[in-house]
Amino acid sequence: MNIDPDCIFCKVAAGDIPSAKILEDEAALAFMDIGPVAPGHVLLIPRPHWSTVDQMPPDALAATMRHLPALVGAVRSATGCEGVNVLQNNGRLAGQVVDHVHFHVIPRSPGGAFTFNWPAGEYPEGRMEQLADAIRGCL
Ligand code: AMP
Ligand code: ZN
Repeated sequence: MNIDPDCIFCKVAAGDIPSAKILEDEAALAFMDIGPVAPGHVLLIPRPHWSTVDQMPPDALAATMRHLPALVGAVRSATGCEGVNVLQNNGRLAGQVVDHVHFHVIPRSPGGAFTFNWPAGEYPEGRMEQLADAIRGCL
């Protein structure tokens, strides 16, 4: 299993750093975020170390994500929130601070401090198809 001895979430996974665990199995664990953007903010991580999601084998990702339905439901029930965001950041520019793949499960309630901007744009003629071709070509 990949482990980075300097990684804070590898240490959480190993139990070397305490955490408020919500669930765990051989593949993944979920624990409370110590810097919550909303009360009830939970992190779901694969147990092995990968920095970004595109590095993960699909099976390892599936074994992590299989917990998401129950986790989102539990966060919703426990907090009484109206909505839930699942966020996953890759790279500094995207807001990633801890370089071990993690999924934020964030309860949303009216008046909550956490918001984000969604600046929907539009493509010039042909550009969307061009980018779709480029992305398909890189699969
Ligand atoms: P990101 O910006 O996506 O890399 O998010 C990293 C998250 O990890 C932040 O929300 C931090 O509050 C959280 N965090 C950092 N260290 C710990 C820790 N020891 N236990 C729980 N959450 C942590
Ligand atoms: Zn790690």
